[in-house]
Amino acid sequence: MVPRSIAACQTATPDLFRTPAREPAWKHDLADAYRQAEELLASLGLSPEAIPDLDPAAPGFRMLVPRAFAALMTPGDPGDPLLRQVLPLGAERLPVAGFTRDPVGDASADLGQGLLRKYAGRALLIVTGGCAVHCRYCFRRHFPYAALGQTPDRTAVAVAAIAADPEISEVILSGGDPLMLDDDRLGVLLERLHEIPHLKRLRIHTRLPVVLPSRVTHALCRGLANSRLATILVVHANHPNELGAQAEEALQRLRRADLTLLNQSVLLRGVNDAAPILGALSERLFECGVLPYYLHQLDPVEGAAHFAVSDAQALRLGEALRERLPGYLVPRLVREVPGVGSKTPLTDAAPIGSPFL
Ligand SMILES: *Cc1c(COP(=O)(O)O)cnc(C)c1O
Ligand code: SF4
Repeated sequence: MVPRSIAACQTATPDLFRTPAREPAWKHDLADAYRQAEELLASLGLSPEAIPDLDPAAPGFRMLVPRAFAALMTPGDPGDPLLRQVLPLGAERLPVAGFTRDPVGDASADLGQGLLRKYAGRALLIVTGGCAVHCRYCFRRHFPYAALGQTPDRTAVAVAAIAADPEISEVILSGGDPLMLDDDRLGVLLERLHEIPHLKRLRIHTRLPVVLPSRVTHALCRGLANSRLATILVVHANHPNELGAQAEEALQRLRRADLTLLNQSVLLRGVNDAAPILGALSERLFECGVLPYYLHQLDPVEGAAHFAVSDAQALRLGEALRERLPGYLVPRLVREVPGVGSKTPLTDAAPIGSPFL
């Protein structure tokens, strides 16, 4: 199938998005994403034999890769850093001590109505379980997504809970990927949040501007720009190659809508565990109007152990970044510790017995 041109979406008149009969281009792009490993590999000129550990029938967490993201992979390179993030491997089935199904303790946090209260002053609202890409290292890969997505009833209860707590000044929309909601549903949610007087900020954690840039329509940017709430978009890119021309244009549109743009990355073996790559990522993010925010040590989720970087190596990389970059381009190197209400800075190498030794 021929991927629809993203450019068509960027130059479209706003009327296009008001015509309900016409599906937005990004939905088509999503439907057109690669779901078969063989098909993705063929698009790169690779045979399945080029990936000795390939596991096309990986249980539980199927492959999902938008064509715009696949187009940024280097043809003929079985070790491509973008391919490695999304290709299911047999290694995912190996049990590894310390890697569990709920590494950050979200299942035990109060997730009533998709509302998570583990950060002071902030409420995390899981608005959908869906994503446009399935990252093999994701800590939510074993999550009961379907049970968490918002329905009108759940949203009403969650919004009422936020409205009843004047200590909440920021709502973080998370998922899954909150921009998977279509404009209508997102619009309704944002309107309800706007009406809560003690809210000051809205934060959206999304990988879509990077992996499905056609989602960043003019209509979406207009909707976000009109907000009374200061709006922060935290994107997720791990490697400079993920920020192609289309992602850059999408991010520039969001910047023009007056959003604050931040990035979080996950430190991943064989993807970005080298100072020149992380340095180039920071520089490229800045070119796109985005400041690096967090560099996360991997959450020890079952199936992702082959991405782990030792804490000692992570600390060396953090040091190398401080040496080569201006301070504002150095992300905070952190990990999520279950039960702790903030990110924990990585300061010491892992203790004996840690899976990050
Ligand atoms: C850590 C975290 C937050 C809170 O982020 P801060 O930037 O530290 O306020 C929100 N959502 C998710 C999914 C997180 O992991
Ligand atoms: S986009 Fe984010 S939530 Fe979705 S699979 Fe990737 S890391 Fe997980």
